[in-house]
Amino acid sequence: MNLELPLEAVKGVGEKTAEQLHAAGLDTVYDLITFLPRAYEDFSEVVAIADIRPGKRTIRAHCEKVEIKRVRRGMTVTTAVLSDGTAKLNAVWFNQPYRAAQLKGDDEYYFSGTFEFSYNRYQLTNPSAEKVSDMPVSTDRIVPIYRAIKGLKSQLVRKLLIELRPYVRVLPDPLPDGIVKSQKLLPYAEALLALHFPKSSADIERARERLAFDELFDLLLAAELNKQSHASLKGWQIPFDQVAVKDFVAGLPFQLTDAQRRAAWEIIQDFERDVPMNRLLQGDVGSGKTVVAGLAARQAASSGFQSAIMAPTEILASQHAETLTALLQPFGVTVGLLTGSVKGKAREELYKQIASGGVDVVVGTHALIQDAVTFHRLGFVVIDEQHRFGVAQRQQLLHKSDHMPHLLAMTATPIPRSLALTVYGELDISVLNERPKGRKPILTKLWSPNSRSQLYDLIEEQLAQGRQAYVICSLIDDNADNELKSVQAEYKKLRVGPFKHRQIGLLHGKLKPAEKEAVMADFASGKTDILVSTTVVEVGVDVPNATVIMIENADRFGLAQLHQLRGRVGRSERQSYCYLVMSDSKAPSKRLREIEKSNDGFHLAQVDLDLRGPGEIYGRAQHGDLNLQVATLGDTQLIARAQREARAFVTANRDLLQYKQLANQVERYQRLTKLN
Ligand code: ADP
Ligand code: MG
Repeated sequence: MNLELPLEAVKGVGEKTAEQLHAAGLDTVYDLITFLPRAYEDFSEVVAIADIRPGKRTIRAHCEKVEIKRVRRGMTVTTAVLSDGTAKLNAVWFNQPYRAAQLKGDDEYYFSGTFEFSYNRYQLTNPSAEKVSDMPVSTDRIVPIYRAIKGLKSQLVRKLLIELRPYVRVLPDPLPDGIVKSQKLLPYAEALLALHFPKSSADIERARERLAFDELFDLLLAAELNKQSHASLKGWQIPFDQVAVKDFVAGLPFQLTDAQRRAAWEIIQDFERDVPMNRLLQGDVGSGKTVVAGLAARQAASSGFQSAIMAPTEILASQHAETLTALLQPFGVTVGLLTGSVKGKAREELYKQIASGGVDVVVGTHALIQDAVTFHRLGFVVIDEQHRFGVAQRQQLLHKSDHMPHLLAMTATPIPRSLALTVYGELDISVLNERPKGRKPILTKLWSPNSRSQLYDLIEEQLAQGRQAYVICSLIDDNADNELKSVQAEYKKLRVGPFKHRQIGLLHGKLKPAEKEAVMADFASGKTDILVSTTVVEVGVDVPNATVIMIENADRFGLAQLHQLRGRVGRSERQSYCYLVMSDSKAPSKRLREIEKSNDGFHLAQVDLDLRGPGEIYGRAQHGDLNLQVATLGDTQLIARAQREARAFVTANRDLLQYKQLANQVERYQRLTKLN
């Protein structure tokens, strides 16, 4: 039996049907038998009409009378009286006039549909009808519901699958036999049979577990293999310079948190090995990732290695350059800034310095990955807010060294453990799960748009104490021009209205880089009291004196984004406030109530993951393509089981190429999840 057989060769598939199947991406027998139902309707229990209650029901009856009425132009109503000897019942179909012809005669039929009260009487609405003497497909069973295929009746897909049942039966199992046995999984063919032709909901559960296991196993095996191939790379060894680290730490204006120490130590240890580091530093907003990266760059410099730090925006890059200059210059470590706004002679000069090793630490935006940039001896690469970059961009930066440099990817979007394991499985992870000492949790409040003036009073209270405030305007829609309009309007309104005695800055994405810089500099130095901004301040911006942030149309933002924005305040020992102004006075969503209650980015990320799925949150570029059909990345138990098996597979040095189907899938995942 050839699984690659084109569907037009299957009985019941005409030219037109084949076309429609192809359009839906289904070309071969294999494609169709692995096309999984997205849901089920349980019509397996046949009830007597005398006992019927509202709900999804199946009866076995014959048709006593049927008639078609034309109600309006192009609209028909077909009604029938059905009887099974216990009682009679009305059925109704909208726009299915062919039912009248189908139900003529004395045959017995199964009818499956919704029994409900409508149009002033109880009736069975739009039931499927199939002769008892035929094999029922859409009645008298747990009926699988497939994703709709344009132009095709769902009935036909079910019929075809019944036709293809023999192929399903002999499907080879993609997983090694030992794993199926030790994990007590349903064999692959049985799982697919259960999904297409379920006998009970327990059947479906077991089958889904099996297929979810496969997806997770493939993904985790890909991660293990990436890890293995990474471990065979030769990197730069950077020895631990204890004096340099001590001096660096002693020079800080604060004490490192325990979490920062731990992360720094993990990095130092990675540096000492000749395998390049491949580490993700996860830390909630304000947990102090920059100084950890700075310490590592200090280590690299003391052995004569350059570091490159790439950030997603100019504001962030220049802020990092400033911070790192202050931290590193006292020790003779030089810092350069390369962004789009460094032009002409200055840019040429900087290129030269980078190429000759005249700058030790190069901070920049995407400008860093341009061909013109060559390093003297690049040993350490930091990617800040790593999820803002694509795989290719990260690779381009890493390839600026003739040895694979040590990589530290940083993110302030906390990633739930289950997701980190699956999607970032090849990375070692350091977590900053602790805020700097003395930070109070930010007080967050949802605010009705009708009581804005009270809110302005609260903000004024902070300003009067010498503090500063952010006012964030949302996207009114996806149109960047409208966003601009709304932030400008807000700026004007505040300047003539409630805050006319205050200095207000305006920041948005359409400003020239130099203008942005000036606006940020004014806010950072305290020249302006209020910064009205779009979400360009979302990532990383650090002005500790700001203690209040007001976010307009808060309901239009994602949870992770709100948490990021909120992280612009709470960066000193003072109490900070976050006010989320709603678009209307409707009851707030679950999402918003969660962020009001919790300051914990990890908790919020889990909530977001549960509510919206990984693709929405962590960017389609990487995760949308994973295309998981059955597995949920929140299923920690199954993930742990799959991981154990994936590790064992790699440890036992088994030959993946023996398992062709498995190998294909794993290779695809390897490409998608690789970070370097
Ligand atoms: P993020 O992790 O969000 O990138 P930053 O690195 O921008 O955080 O640090 C946030 C602020 O906290 C900065 O002003 C930084 O100087 C300060 N900071 C970092 N570590 C500590 C610490 N251990 N104690 C006090 N302040 C710290
Ligand atoms: Mg940061």
